[in-house]
Amino acid sequence: MGDNGPVGTSLRRSAPDTSNGKQKVMLNTDFGEPLDKLCPKCGSANLVHSVEAQPVRFPYGPGDVLMATVDVQVPVTTCAACGDAWTDARAESVREDAVLQRLAELKA
Ligand SMILES: [Zn+2]
Repeated sequence: MGDNGPVGTSLRRSAPDTSNGKQKVMLNTDFGEPLDKLCPKCGSANLVHSVEAQPVRFPYGPGDVLMATVDVQVPVTTCAACGDAWTDARAESVREDAVLQRLAELKA
């Protein structure tokens, strides 16, 4: 009677590395100094700065007849007094960079 012996299948699963504990957050909050110190609506200096993901739609292709959307992280300023929220020139440059990068990808 043949004895096949122990079957050498050992299911050794490597445990996920939790020793590091530090997660990489792909969130760029380094936008520099806020441009606005006062709310343009009510003049309050009680401004809250945050980062929001916003989609940017832009035309591309021959004759700019196609539309593409790219998501960007932009600095948003919110007035704690009147609740108005807006983005400044820092967000503009973020959008421009993202659009240019996406255009390069679309052409590739
Ligand atoms: Zn305000």
